[in-house]
Amino acid sequence: MPPLVRAAALDALAVLFPVECAGCGAPDRAVCSGCRLALVPNARRIGVVDCGAPIVSALRYDGVPRAVLLAFKESGRTDAAKPLALALRCAIEVAAVDAAGAVELCVIPSSRAAARRRGYRPVDELVRRAGLRAARVLQVSRATAQQKSLGRDAREGNVRESFRSRHPLHGRRFVLVDDIVTTGATLNAAAAAIASAGGVVAAAATVAFTPRIRPENIRA
Ligand SMILES: [Zn+2]
Repeated sequence: MPPLVRAAALDALAVLFPVECAGCGAPDRAVCSGCRLALVPNARRIGVVDCGAPIVSALRYDGVPRAVLLAFKESGRTDAAKPLALALRCAIEVAAVDAAGAVELCVIPSSRAAARRRGYRPVDELVRRAGLRAARVLQVSRATAQQKSLGRDAREGNVRESFRSRHPLHGRRFVLVDDIVTTGATLNAAAAAIASAGGVVAAAATVAFTPRIRPENIRA
């Protein structure tokens, strides 16, 4: 369809099903063109996991990326997933190069309660929309408080030993995949679970990183 006709068709749809941009609230598409620009990924290494594996992230978690990620995760705005999936794919590709060798993707699992509340698993959904496949490796082994409500030290304690592997993982290498990295406590806990099952974490990739902690202070 030519772009103008396509735009007109979308506008006609918007009259029937009014949509607000998940980034700025403008009456537009799921993500308006201005917000799409703010979601163009810039995948770079922003820290390391405790085991030394690099963490690659595509976006700073503030402004538009934060608004769109929150809308996607907490308000059911799956229509806004496409640019996020693109950003995650970009981070995974750079992480896979850093990982130097064959790797599988391992998504950080969300709790069953969170998946039930949302009706979907946000990171799995982004991986799928990015055209990638993840191995089912980790499961949540105990309930934890929401990380975003905690300070750095409390985050470490909150997620320690909160994951376990479903199977032995000897000889397998992974790129951990998550939506947001803040202190890296969750990635560290996941990496520890993989290591204790005999696997190796070669890199980690996230859609976004929290800039309130300076990159050099991110241990993981
Ligand atoms: Zn917008």
